[in-house]
Amino acid sequence: MKGSCLCGTVEYEIIQLDSPIAHCACRTCRKAHAAAFNSSAAVNRDHFRWSKGQENLKYYESSPGKRRYFCGTCGSHLVAERIGQPNLILRVATLDDDPGGKPVCRIWQSHEVPWLENGYQIPSFPEWQPGH
Ligand SMILES: [Zn+2]
Repeated sequence: MKGSCLCGTVEYEIIQLDSPIAHCACRTCRKAHAAAFNSSAAVNRDHFRWSKGQENLKYYESSPGKRRYFCGTCGSHLVAERIGQPNLILRVATLDDDPGGKPVCRIWQSHEVPWLENGYQIPSFPEWQPGH
């Protein structure tokens, strides 16, 4: 499977996801992704490779040893890592292919923004809402 950043400068390939997908609403994910939650899954380092633009990556160390990598041009967050751990933490929404699995849980619900409450029961539309 392939993934990429918004501007297409950075691309990567994975063989598979090595954990189920989870939505993380922790404060640091929320800020880093400018979103109510971040969808992530573990990918073993052996199952991941940068295929284009690796030199354009930057990272922010959000806590000691935890590096969040993003495209230096468009700012898309692509993976995070904890130094010395076998898995990368993939930002699943940057995949260009369907990984197959569905999210199994939400984590860090204690940090969720109040306006996300019942967010999964509200009407949803394939694209813009009618009349928009
Ligand atoms: Zn980019």
